Amino acid sequence: MPLILDNRNSLGTGVRFTEVIGPIARGIQILREKHDRNLITLFNKSAREEDLTGESLKSQMSGIKKIIKQEGVSGTFYFDGDHANEKTLERFNNCEYLTLDVADALKEQGTTTEANDFISNYKELLGKIKLPGINEVIDMSLDDLFDLSCRYIPAANQVKKLYNKAKELRGNDTFMVEVSIDETDKSQTPKEMLVMLALLSDMGVPIQAIAPKLHGEFYKGLDHHGDPMKCLEEYRLHLAVAKYAVQEFGMPESLRISMHSGSDKWTIYDYVRGALLEQSTHAHVKTAGTHWLAQVEGLAQCGTDPRKITANLYEKMYYNIKDKKPDDPDSLAYLYQSVVAKINLDKMPTPKKVYQMGGAEFAELLVKNPHVRMGMHIAFQFVKGMPVLRGAMQDQRNRQIIDPIITNNVIQHGIHAFPSDSEYGIKDRKCIFVP
Ligand SMILES: [Zn+2]
Repeated sequence: MPLILDNRNSLGTGVRFTEVIGPIARGIQILREKHDRNLITLFNKSAREEDLTGESLKSQMSGIKKIIKQEGVSGTFYFDGDHANEKTLERFNNCEYLTLDVADALKEQGTTTEANDFISNYKELLGKIKLPGINEVIDMSLDDLFDLSCRYIPAANQVKKLYNKAKELRGNDTFMVEVSIDETDKSQTPKEMLVMLALLSDMGVPIQAIAPKLHGEFYKGLDHHGDPMKCLEEYRLHLAVAKYAVQEFGMPESLRISMHSGSDKWTIYDYVRGALLEQSTHAHVKTAGTHWLAQVEGLAQCGTDPRKITANLYEKMYYNIKDKKPDDPDSLAYLYQSVVAKINLDKMPTPKKVYQMGGAEFAELLVKNPHVRMGMHIAFQFVKGMPVLRGAMQDQRNRQIIDPIITNNVIQHGIHAFPSDSEYGIKDRKCIFVP
């Protein structure tokens, strides 16, 4: 039996560097005690981040108990092996939660036989389907169902394959599963979501979350780019489709839509909160490893030496983007081409100027300039080779300034993205302590 996410909202939060765990956990506790939001926390980390930071998930997981005890906080905390695929599945063996990324399988097509077999079992998908909780109808023709089945069968097969492999590697089925199809070019329609969930249900994989690609761009650490209303319209239909799948296909009640928000989607979060209240349902909102940006923002304000170290990092980032071609393995862009393509060096101050800045001005630059933000987001790759910077990030004196920024960041995400328990009409919800 898998662990269950229960009917609380869940917040995903990246942990590039271990010391952010404490201030994040404190933010979660404050959300519960002061803001009436009792959230499940999923610390997420991808294999790529594990390699680039040199901080293994295993060591972070074993450290978490100690850190949370030291911080004197409580809450429900799990680790999410993010965007796991065949190659990386094994290293996430200890995570209670797995995000199985099957977006690549959407480039393939299922066979006519597979599609017809599926359709014969799911005839109820044909015609008009009234979605629960909202005044919307999905109208599915046989052609639609056939095309979408062919399109999503390989992805569903891949989920089944990865799920079985994870069970085999672990020797149990106690882990929770999310499916992600968000790293594609085009957003998915509610019709596509309906077919994908029916296929997964048909295969008997007990998924508890699914991450679609939504309208617009979700750059890490920046607000949403695109039409927020369009994004919201897709999102609220996906929420209703997930509810339908629970009611009609018998999928786990904890099933939720997962938004891979990439942090700081302030215009979108308020809509998410409204949509959750409208349908009285719950969701998962994943944020990214952007607490690293909070660490840098804090360091810039910790006095002369930490500010110089941060300016030094800025300089390295600036010249790396300027001088190194993206196909050079030493380029910050090497693994982050889509991010770097958007950075315009002309919109960034020169390192010389940055060295002359005071703490407040430098911090404002790090928070407000989107080009600097994108550059710094991927500049974490330098940390492993900069022991002085690494030391400054861990220094307790600096952490007195950095940690509250991280805690506040978590609180703001929680307040904006999720309704409070009293808004939901829930009284005295219990806090479950894990681990
Ligand atoms: Zn994602």
